[in-house]
Amino acid sequence: MSDITLGIIGGGQLGSLLSVAANKLNINTVIFSDDKNSPAKNFTKNFISGNYDDEKLIKEFLSKVNVITYEFENIPYKILKKLNEIKPVLPKPEINKLIQNRYTEKDFLNKNNIRTTRYSLIKDEDDIKINDGLIPGLLKTCTLGYDGKGQFKIDKKENISSEIDFTKEYILEKFVKLKKEISVIITRFGHQRYEIYEPIENLHEDQILKHSKIPAQISEKIKNQATNWATIIAEELDYVGTLCVEYFIDNKDNLYANEIAPRVHNSGHLTINSHNVSQFENHIRAVCGLEKVETKKIYNARMLNLIGNDIEDYRVKSFKDNEFFFDYQKTEIREKRKMGHFTIIEKEN
Ligand code: AMP
Repeated sequence: MSDITLGIIGGGQLGSLLSVAANKLNINTVIFSDDKNSPAKNFTKNFISGNYDDEKLIKEFLSKVNVITYEFENIPYKILKKLNEIKPVLPKPEINKLIQNRYTEKDFLNKNNIRTTRYSLIKDEDDIKINDGLIPGLLKTCTLGYDGKGQFKIDKKENISSEIDFTKEYILEKFVKLKKEISVIITRFGHQRYEIYEPIENLHEDQILKHSKIPAQISEKIKNQATNWATIIAEELDYVGTLCVEYFIDNKDNLYANEIAPRVHNSGHLTINSHNVSQFENHIRAVCGLEKVETKKIYNARMLNLIGNDIEDYRVKSFKDNEFFFDYQKTEIREKRKMGHFTIIEKEN
């Protein structure tokens, strides 16, 4: 093992896959999760569980690690900031704070001339009525929503669901007539030093990612714009590590940035098998200050997310040598929950 021990906050599938990549590079990991049953405990030798603001656990975590990263963006800023005073947290806590909130995130994108759909901050029902130019639209909680959670479709200003809890802040986004969704994953190592993956084409079902594939069927113009914007974002944020930009393409072939994930991303799981260096390994290399290795595609690939009961068939299936099954080893199967994934690489015969 190397001298570096990496602390990872969050114990889901991303934490598990980060830990696997770290171990491959001889880096120890300590995973800190608020769920004692989180799947990542199967993928690390050091697992700490309890509340993220538990002083004793924070101390224990800090004493064991040299550098800290995280697998999800909804960690309270003040906790990341506190950790960062003692051991480096990468990406920087301020980045997480900016991106955690859909409103400040969209403002950041627009300030950098990166197109998003039109949007407005919504504090009450009247704000929706005033912004009827954004209808049909999607109302999204500014914080803590993901995979369509905390989202309401608004078709008419007269038809506002009584389920909306206006003690929270929202943004109303103009609905984009989607032709396609793509994502770009980039790992930044420092000033103007990157490894960038080609755009990945994504298909969602019920607002949850279902399929990803490379190459994406998109024009050269969209490909360049999507990769340029991801590079601008990483540079403007002075980012270190892997990030993902999710994009929409509308039926007139306009590109819109939807959101930034300041972390490794589900659409990049196929890079484990398609590239010489995966998004996870690149993240570890960047945050631990290891060598940057030129990242190359070896195979085209497709990935299928196994959601809820989908996993059962795969647990008993046999696979060809171009097929790879990942079981997140979650303790129970739940509907609409990502349980594993399956990647097929296109090997030439
Ligand atoms: P999000 O939580 O923002 O990642 O949204 C989840 C999914 O909902 C996206 O991947 C899209 O499929 C869909 N979606 C979100 N926002 C919009 C929008 N403004 N217009 C059309 N579809 C959207």
